[in-house]
Amino acid sequence: MDPASITPADLRQLLAFVAEAISRKEAELNALDAAIGDGDHGITMRVGFTAVNAKISGLPDAAGIDAIFRESGIAFMGATGGAIGVLLGKMLMAAGAALKGRPEIGPAEFRILLDAMESTLVSTGKARPGDKTMLDAVHAANDAVKAENPSGEELVPMMELAGRSALRAAQDTAQMLPHAGRASRLGERALGHPDPGAVSFSVFLTAMAEWAQQTSRHGA
Ligand code: ADP
Ligand code: MG
Repeated sequence: MDPASITPADLRQLLAFVAEAISRKEAELNALDAAIGDGDHGITMRVGFTAVNAKISGLPDAAGIDAIFRESGIAFMGATGGAIGVLLGKMLMAAGAALKGRPEIGPAEFRILLDAMESTLVSTGKARPGDKTMLDAVHAANDAVKAENPSGEELVPMMELAGRSALRAAQDTAQMLPHAGRASRLGERALGHPDPGAVSFSVFLTAMAEWAQQTSRHGA
């Protein structure tokens, strides 16, 4: 990829890389969900991203950034159940809608993407930051790239910043009491365990950043 932007062809490769990263974390995500939920989060994420991959590899070459995200969201939602199926499915679809007419993803588009994902998550899931959900990771990443950016206006460092911020926020959810989703029934018993959705969203963003880092370095 050109380090300045992600083309539609790049985005297909990136999502395939993300799908592999999510698959590798399946057991870990299941274990996190077993601690405070019903133990299926890793399976759901793997099934969802496998469907995303299958869907986008069948899209016509002319499919743009918007269509790739929209179709990914539809595929994810269609293949999965549970809270995350609807939430992440809608978030991917919203990213597509927000990026309509944008030929590539540069820094401005990356900000738009995270912002669209966060607002859709909030309007669909009704959680607030601090409720110990995936929103904590999404919100931290969005906030970090919106703020005066120490990495400047370069895409790859911005993606790395988003990944790091989401990961830190996901780890911080361990100290939070759950107020949304299945885990909310556990109250204090959820303390000490990070939220699985927050962790998987940080895997999603760190894998995106890792792909961008590797690919731009190799000048592919
Ligand atoms: P389920 O809880 O239906 O088994 P998953 O295990 O796949 O679904 O996903 C659980 C994750 O979904 C949680 O860890 C949390 O991050 C996220 N989640 C659940 N409900 C909400 C909500 N209302 N708002 C934001 N995130 C939520
Ligand atoms: Mg679950």
